[in-house]
Amino acid sequence: MQFSKFGQKFTQKSGILQLMDDLGNALASDQPINMLGGGNPAKIAAVNENYQRVLEKIVAENQAIDSIANYSTPQGDSVFIQTLADFFRAEYGWDVQPENIALTNGSQNAFFYLFNLFGGEFDSGNKKILLPLAPEYIGYADAHISGSHFLAVRPEIERVQHNNQAGFFKYRVDFDALAQLPEWERGEIGAICCSRPTNPTGNVLTDKEMAQLDALAQKHGVPLIIDNAYGAPFPNIIHTDNTLIWHDNIVLCFSLSKIGLPSARTGIVLANKEIIKAISSLNAIINLSPTRFGAAIATPMLQDGSLKDLSDNVIRPFYAEQAEYAISLLQQEFKDYPLAIHQPEGAIFLWLWFENLPISTNELYEILKQRGTLIIPSELFFVGLDTADYRHAHECIRMSIAGDKTVLQQGISTIGEVVRGLYDQ
Ligand code: PLP
Repeated sequence: MQFSKFGQKFTQKSGILQLMDDLGNALASDQPINMLGGGNPAKIAAVNENYQRVLEKIVAENQAIDSIANYSTPQGDSVFIQTLADFFRAEYGWDVQPENIALTNGSQNAFFYLFNLFGGEFDSGNKKILLPLAPEYIGYADAHISGSHFLAVRPEIERVQHNNQAGFFKYRVDFDALAQLPEWERGEIGAICCSRPTNPTGNVLTDKEMAQLDALAQKHGVPLIIDNAYGAPFPNIIHTDNTLIWHDNIVLCFSLSKIGLPSARTGIVLANKEIIKAISSLNAIINLSPTRFGAAIATPMLQDGSLKDLSDNVIRPFYAEQAEYAISLLQQEFKDYPLAIHQPEGAIFLWLWFENLPISTNELYEILKQRGTLIIPSELFFVGLDTADYRHAHECIRMSIAGDKTVLQQGISTIGEVVRGLYDQ
């Protein structure tokens, strides 16, 4: 069968397809698999009990059927949008109207829209999305209709301590390299985008770095897209002091996935009214209207404060504890070996750097997969960078910390055994 160029582009082997296939197959498998690979959120009993309670209530009071039995406008469920606008005004003092918010089928859906709105072919030529700090979220990599779409610069690597212990590092934005990109002069950058906290590294760009990115975007007249899938106020898996910023030039994206509702496929975009209108138009053509089920669950929980309470008091501490537990296991496994861990500042992953590993982590991924442990190799995350002569991009892995303690123990023990063997050869 012959597919169009669009068809060929979207049916080729992509990193995100491999990732989601591995995830789905592992969840459906009857073989024991140590799933340290995907981005599924943890099953947290106290959180799920709340969803159970809310589900029972919205079923009993008919809102559940009402939400699944009726389309919303292409902008999304109007009650949820109004509730969100009220919440953002009260919580952050931003001047948010319902016209500043659109819903999408997961935030992945929103990124597809945004990257194709601000990147790609313009009358003046092609524009790219600038990712100021590689590595970045693997799911951005293929979300454009044509052309090469992303531009990134190598991070600065700073050796740091975590809880007074050595063996950690933190990526920093190289602002000199960013400012000197020739693409600015040529008008070839359409937007800046960063995830904060960052998937895959757990890095949280500092408030100062965010202020600099904000200024850079304004200077060049392009929007700053902030992917807040793991950030405040929900799920709030963020362990550093941080301020959330928003104004007319910032597109702030939220998701209900990492609070434990990934299959409700609900993304939230907060942006200026022109962008929200564009997203509604895209929704109409691509989805008719976005799903309302996530909205039906989240609306009462936003109204009674339980969503924020769960995020602050259950979800965030849960992942903080998982991160420390996984770090203690890794430190035992790699006592005399060159493992460096990215400072765990948020999100649901640890990013491990095996400096001078004799094989690439693509090859390591295959060996670990044979041994029943899934991780994600680093190369795919360096979206927008040529990694051919960049060794660091082939020396890291991302591991999820969302699994239960047995999965962490067994998975980390397998990684330890295999990687130590490679260094010992
Ligand atoms: N952004 C980041 C940084 C992510 O990690 C993910 C999912 O893992 C997404 C966006 C997309 O999530 P969803 O489409 O479920 O909202």
